[in-house]
Amino acid sequence: SYVLDKAYFVKVIEDLAAIVEEQRDYLTGLDSAIGDGDHGLNLSIGFREVSKNLSEWQKENLTILFKKIGMALLGKVGGSAGPLYGSLFMKMGEPAGGKDVVDFNEFCNMLKAGIEAVEMRGKAVVGEKTMVDALRPALDALTKAVEDGVAPKIAFEKMLDSAKAGRESTIPLIAKKGRAMRLGERAIGHVDPGSASSCIILEMFYKNMPQ
Ligand code: ADP
Ligand code: MG
Ligand code: MG
Repeated sequence: SYVLDKAYFVKVIEDLAAIVEEQRDYLTGLDSAIGDGDHGLNLSIGFREVSKNLSEWQKENLTILFKKIGMALLGKVGGSAGPLYGSLFMKMGEPAGGKDVVDFNEFCNMLKAGIEAVEMRGKAVVGEKTMVDALRPALDALTKAVEDGVAPKIAFEKMLDSAKAGRESTIPLIAKKGRAMRLGERAIGHVDPGSASSCIILEMFYKNMPQ
């Protein structure tokens, strides 16, 4: 049967920390256009703290591991993204139920819990030019693919495709949440930085999944 073990999750987090460094200037550039130009920097600060502790934290079960990652993001990262991604990771661990290995259904429940936590925390809905524009359609596509009996990695590919389409959907929007709200119509024509970082996060989960 299809399982995802701790080594998988640790590799995802390591890759995430690396790609955040690689994409830091890209994300900060997006945020310079419609925010305060710190989104890449914020994530870099957060994931450096995670990296520093990961060898210690990976001794813990998945619930505690994710909780520690989320708490680090919450504690170290200022601005909106810290609490939002902090909630995502903290809540993601809960459906793992204190185990070291999860099956695909449990993994889907982890993503659901994490994404719903972002929605609860930020109170954003689709169309407000935030990370929710990538995360909500991604979750809906995953749920549908699972219902249709699509194989795990293909289901995740569909999830990622929807996240990327959601990211692109933010370009023509005016922001109704977050800093970009202040720009009004001047936000039109720019990708929302949080929707871009959300795609990067989901892509690392996808990329490392076994076939
Ligand atoms: P800040 O805007 O405080 O500098 P960041 O630049 O790190 O924080 O993050 C900005 C991103 O946070 C935005 O691009 C948007 O996707 C996301 N965001 C802001 N407010 C909300 C919210 N209420 N709900 C969901 N996402 C939000
Ligand atoms: Mg910012
Ligand atoms: Mg800021």
